[in-house]
Amino acid sequence: MFPGILITKDDSGYQAKLTQVDPTVLSEGDVTVAVEYSTLNYKDGLAITGKSPVVRRFPMVPGIDFAGTVSSSSHPAWKAGDSVILNGWGVGETHTGGLAEQARVKGDWLIARPSAFSARQAMAIGTAGYTAMLCVMALERHGVKPADGEILVTGANGGVGSVAIILLATLGYRVVASTGRPEAAEHLKALGASEVMDRATLSAPGKPLGKERWAGVVDTVGSHTLANACATTRYGGVVTACGLAGGMDLPATVAPFILRGVTLAGIDSVMAPLPLRNQAWARLAQDLDTTQLEAVTEEIGLDQAIARASDLMAGQVAGRLVVKVSHG
Ligand code: NDP
Repeated sequence: MFPGILITKDDSGYQAKLTQVDPTVLSEGDVTVAVEYSTLNYKDGLAITGKSPVVRRFPMVPGIDFAGTVSSSSHPAWKAGDSVILNGWGVGETHTGGLAEQARVKGDWLIARPSAFSARQAMAIGTAGYTAMLCVMALERHGVKPADGEILVTGANGGVGSVAIILLATLGYRVVASTGRPEAAEHLKALGASEVMDRATLSAPGKPLGKERWAGVVDTVGSHTLANACATTRYGGVVTACGLAGGMDLPATVAPFILRGVTLAGIDSVMAPLPLRNQAWARLAQDLDTTQLEAVTEEIGLDQAIARASDLMAGQVAGRLVVKVSHG
């Protein structure tokens, strides 16, 4: 038995609690990992609070990502003692996840932890930070350069938004941060935002086309915000869509795409192929300012994870919550 968070759903309802986990609860896999750190991402907040049905199997250990050390393996790529990280693949949703001292997963899902990062730093980045890098790489792949103009980042105080600002500013882009927390403007500017705007400007229903402003967009919010971001993107610009913090709908028209050649690039971290993941982590090791990362990171224990998941859903968390799982 080992400490972990377990989500159950039965006649007494949907419940997440910190408990002693029986190893028989763990999903099948060929590698067992001693988890050192996990994180709380938006999806973990949905899973732990039950706000959205992301958990598909019960009982479930939540935690869509983790960093740890292989304790046993029958997979040819991994041996005991290897430092590994995992993001996505349905872990914490359909397969038991990272918010417990042990995880059992498929070796094919693991990647070696980049030597540039400690286990704690890798999870301070976590799925949110790796997704921010996937967005930056998509902007680059579609040819957006710093000289092309401003990049809008929505949900700026969130995990994806904060890391996206740090990365884009480091790479020389002029970043405009959209937030519902204007009191955090100085913090966002310290991360690298040149300008901070009130998210209310983007969240109301807008026109099919607006004044052209953005060379690129990193959108974590969806709904009207994404529609308005597309409508105000410059000719030939690129909008990366990765999130739904404001809603899953997209009340938009095709006007930005057919009249301005705007590209809407979808970003998925969960099933992203291994070469793309390795590339994203290599780029994080190369480009992410770890001092800035630390400035947006708060460490909590497993015993705080359930309460902080509710805070996350209430929009009361800024940046990244890294969870210290092991006591070793
Ligand atoms: P966080 O909870 O850390 O951040 C979300 C941010 O969105 C908040 O901090 C807030 O920023 C803003 N926000 C919250 N509610 C609303 C609202 N109703 N309207 C407008 N803005 C809102 O989440 P993450 O950064 O971890 O994730 C962001 C989104 O990206 C989530 O929807 C998540 O599911 C998605 N995601 C998708 C991935 C993928 O693979 N596609 C991977 C990782 C995340 P502020 O206070 O600054 O306004």
